[in-house]
Amino acid sequence: MFSRILIANRGEIALRIIRAARELGVETVCVYSEADKGGPWLDQADETVCIGPGPSADSYLRIDRIISAAETTKADAIHPGYGFLSENAHFAEVCRDCQITFIGPSPEAMGLLGDKVSCRAMAQKSGTPIFPGSPGEIEEDEEAIKVAEEIGYPVIVKAAAGGGGRGMRIARDEEELKAGLTSARQEAVAAFGNGAVYVEKFLERARHVEVQCLGDQHGNAIHLYNRDCTSQRRHQKLIEEGPAPGVSDEVRDAVCESAARLIQSANYCGAATCEFLMDQSGDFYMLEVNTRIQVEHPVTEMITGVDLVKEMIRCSAGEPLAYKQSDIKLIGHAIECRINAEDPDRGFMPQPGLVEEFRQPGGFGVRVDTHVQPGYRVPPNYDSMIAKLIVSGEDRAEAIARMKSAIDEFKIGPIKTTLPLHRRLMDAREFVETDFDIHYVERWLEQEEAKV
Ligand code: ADP
Repeated sequence: MFSRILIANRGEIALRIIRAARELGVETVCVYSEADKGGPWLDQADETVCIGPGPSADSYLRIDRIISAAETTKADAIHPGYGFLSENAHFAEVCRDCQITFIGPSPEAMGLLGDKVSCRAMAQKSGTPIFPGSPGEIEEDEEAIKVAEEIGYPVIVKAAAGGGGRGMRIARDEEELKAGLTSARQEAVAAFGNGAVYVEKFLERARHVEVQCLGDQHGNAIHLYNRDCTSQRRHQKLIEEGPAPGVSDEVRDAVCESAARLIQSANYCGAATCEFLMDQSGDFYMLEVNTRIQVEHPVTEMITGVDLVKEMIRCSAGEPLAYKQSDIKLIGHAIECRINAEDPDRGFMPQPGLVEEFRQPGGFGVRVDTHVQPGYRVPPNYDSMIAKLIVSGEDRAEAIARMKSAIDEFKIGPIKTTLPLHRRLMDAREFVETDFDIHYVERWLEQEEAKV
């Protein structure tokens, strides 16, 4: 096991990693930016190192400063958390060159799964369901037109190196497809330095369902069932829950097992998530693989009892997975609400500033992952998420009731947050009946606005 881990992240996930490391008897070093000086998670680390000014590009994304902090504090591993450098294969490679373990997959595995074209090809071999589409990169427009005619419009043009929704174009006919290919290629070259694109079927109404997986360095890979993340606004997840409701055990197990085979075929170490869209007839199509721990991982921890962060640290230290597939049992239902410092009544405007009141809910089946305390000032520089409220219950109905009660108990002020929005969403017909698709929150928000 490692003796010291450097955490190249901030906020709630930094605290989450500190807690996991401590349980494993591992010391922690936290790097921080000037904007995060005095951050309440920092005094929980054994050592802290300032790595630069507030903007991420000058601190949390500075590979040179993070590596030098690890070297001077004698950390033998780096946990990247999510966001920032977590899916940067170059960073993983620099860590390896400096003989510091990157807690996550190898740069090779990250590269294979991070490229959408190679990931699709590997998924196909593993029997993981993918969208109908072009077999590989599109070289000539004619190829794309032929594929689109075969699979039927609408289609979506995607960049092989895509991320953050960039390099994607929806096309409803041949003309839009030709224009989409050109503009997606241009955008992909500008954003990723790689203009490779491919074409796949576009689904109008779909749910987002993803599978949590874990792999070790001994060729083992397991899945920890699925989560539904259909409640999104502008592709940002708001609510996640697990197991995904309304999926038969048979389909769920088949999709989850195929996801585990996929990450196994990449010799994957650590936590990975295979994201899928599920259409209205219940068929699954893989979107992409996220090669890191995800924001919504506590949902899975609550329904399986497995500490995902501890497992990823153990596996990166060379230990075999502590669980076999047959050890993973589903217990009840869990829901997570992401609480953002944003004002839903004013176009979700970010709300940086002083948090005077912060009273967390508690009790049976309630978990709050946050770095915030009364007196904390939310800096304007980073993601607006300030807390995750996770509840579990015997079934979905109990989890929803518990979430409503926990939200009512949660007091945050004077800054505005998304808490009241979550409270109303817990009563929204579409959510309650799981009669939803990834655009339902946006439609629901429009209806709510029309009411006032
Ligand atoms: P990125 O890596 O840029 O986030 P994804 O492949 O994950 O790209 O796609 C981002 C979002 O775009 C998905 O969450 C989904 O909402 C939408 N999307 C992507 N592919 C399709 C598709 N084939 N049909 C319908 N929606 C899609």
